[in-house]
Amino acid sequence: MQVQLSKAGQKMDKSSGVRAIMKDINETLAGNTDGICNLSAGNPLILPEVEAVWKKYTQKLLDSPEFGNVVGRYGSSKGYEPLIQAIIKDFNQRYNLELTSKNILITGGSQTLYFIVANVYGGLDQNGQMKKIILPLSPDYTGYSGISLYENSVVSFVPNISIKESEHKFKYHPNFDKLLIDQTSGCVIFSRPANPSGNIITDEEVHKIANAAKKYSVPVFVDSAYATPYPGLNFTEMTPIFGDNIVHCISLSKGGLPGERVGIAIGPEEIIAPLEHFQMNCSIHSSRYGQAIAAMAIESGEMAKLADQVIRPFYKNKFEIFHDALDRFMPKDLPWYVHEGEGSIFGWIWLKDLPITDWELYQILKKEKVLVVPGKDFFPGLTSDWKHKNECIRISLTASKEEIENGIRILARIVQNLYSQP
Ligand code: PLP
Repeated sequence: MQVQLSKAGQKMDKSSGVRAIMKDINETLAGNTDGICNLSAGNPLILPEVEAVWKKYTQKLLDSPEFGNVVGRYGSSKGYEPLIQAIIKDFNQRYNLELTSKNILITGGSQTLYFIVANVYGGLDQNGQMKKIILPLSPDYTGYSGISLYENSVVSFVPNISIKESEHKFKYHPNFDKLLIDQTSGCVIFSRPANPSGNIITDEEVHKIANAAKKYSVPVFVDSAYATPYPGLNFTEMTPIFGDNIVHCISLSKGGLPGERVGIAIGPEEIIAPLEHFQMNCSIHSSRYGQAIAAMAIESGEMAKLADQVIRPFYKNKFEIFHDALDRFMPKDLPWYVHEGEGSIFGWIWLKDLPITDWELYQILKKEKVLVVPGKDFFPGLTSDWKHKNECIRISLTASKEEIENGIRILARIVQNLYSQP
């Protein structure tokens, strides 16, 4: 049968660029993984200490009379009450807040949360005007490219860049001269720490964005998938920020539960309530097993402890290995820069004036058995012809020390050859 898709159906049927690359990578890996340096993975690693905690609380749940209630009954669209209560208690204590259950919504992973956000606050409004989903700083999470049912509703801005020439380091900053938030904006979303760059927008910058958005009653969603307190994948100090128009969005995926799909929105009741109603219509609620074991891990303090004592040190160490490998192997006289390693599970390399595209570099590296993710798809919503978009690659810190070192050694050789060609 020739199925007829709606406009929204057609939009959602498209495979985003990064999905196409992941397909290519998976096909490469399916062939022969021998000797391959896989620096491309987006999946977090299963850390034994973290897995042990999930096993412990799964057993506790199995042994408790609550088990039947968790898996055998529907629940509230806001989420599983013990998880909501655990979050309220933890966040109120940690950040001196006065959250109640009206401020919390649990979704089926944070990707679902951003999909709901983009279609509740972005897209066509009651007057037929397109409300944009604003990403204040490009590059950002590639998954934002598919969150709206409407074409061209995600809009992003070229950032400012500061460079530490002698250290081969750089950092993105929102460009407030270009960033436009006005009556055509529906919501603002950004990741902090950011995937792919590991950038952490400063507290001052977050306040500045939120204040600009507040003038037009635009809600700001801070995607805290890598932030403190869990999973704690920040390698420099950072403070979660709350406010009248700010929603702090957590994911439990990088804290070790990606399969269970738990996202958490914490924010003002009037922003959260419409999201809950949307969720009620589309999925009723998120699966409750993951929520139940997460509730126990948060309530006991183990979730935050794992973040501080296991997850952060593990990835921070990988970051140091990555930086050390760049220092040792990359040619000192070429214009390559690594983004300041402030957080996330990725390294982000900018090869300024690269003579070929990021995609072509990906293909050359693939032939040398090194898999990276070309950077171009991490600029969702950025229509401008900025050559930087084709000059970056993302390196996953889930790889082993040997893979990272080997991969960077090979990258260095290839980069040297490319820049020396006439
Ligand atoms: N936000 C960022 C910045 C991410 O990197 C990811 C996943 O990689 C997500 C959101 C989606 O996470 P999940 O839907 O598993 O909560």
